[in-house]
Amino acid sequence: MPELPEVETIRKSIEPFLANAIVTAVDVREARLRCPVNSTDFSRWIIGNRIVSVARRSKYLIWQLENDASVIIHLGMSGRLGIFAADAAIETHTHVIFHLDSSIQVRYRDPRRFGLVEVTPPQAFATWFRFTNLGVEPLSAAFNHHYVANLLKKSKKPIKNWIMDAQNVVGVGNIYANEALFKAGIHPIRPANSLKNDEQRRLVESVKSVLTAAIDKGGTTLNDFRNARSEPGFFQLDLAVYQNDGQVCGSCGAIIERIVMSGRSTFYCPSCQR
Ligand SMILES: [Zn+2]
Repeated sequence: MPELPEVETIRKSIEPFLANAIVTAVDVREARLRCPVNSTDFSRWIIGNRIVSVARRSKYLIWQLENDASVIIHLGMSGRLGIFAADAAIETHTHVIFHLDSSIQVRYRDPRRFGLVEVTPPQAFATWFRFTNLGVEPLSAAFNHHYVANLLKKSKKPIKNWIMDAQNVVGVGNIYANEALFKAGIHPIRPANSLKNDEQRRLVESVKSVLTAAIDKGGTTLNDFRNARSEPGFFQLDLAVYQNDGQVCGSCGAIIERIVMSGRSTFYCPSCQR
């Protein structure tokens, strides 16, 4: 499943192709995604309008148009966005094709169809229902020690589950939660309200640095991830604990352990993480 760094990598790789282009047509070849794709919305708000920018909120990609409408895309489990020449062969599972006036096409492909392609009408974006319960962006200034300290003291959840809860902070998926807790030296089962001041600070810094490092390297190659230009990411090689159980910790030489928390594989160093 694409996580935040992968989505950010896609955003950065598609934006140069989309910004300033006009959407001339949209072909919906398969409307049955997680929610039905509404062709009428495209003709009403999107076709004939210019794309101003491509933004991201959590794992949603947001194409902002000149008329203040937006196209919102979530890649679900297996979705991909690709940039194609208009005459390029169409791969199977290509469900939505956006034609741009620059004679390129943006194609949404999704074998498992858990993704979303939606339109928000002008002015509706800020209050769109999918965004209303989302916590802060991990790379924004709003995710800081003060914010975290306030919320942590109210929760007895294991810190790993807390940091993965999108109502607290968005986009910290399983891989990055494991890696950030290792970097911060915090055991994943510690109750959220047991973290001391310096641990809270290290947690914030680690989440930011692990995600930033992944974005800089173009996302991971896990689950067959490719960015819009089909270049694989490289971050996988740098993972310190994720899926490294039974191997030696690079920091201290102890053996990395694996437990299951809320159904998710959890990897940690019993000596570095307390
Ligand atoms: Zn260690």
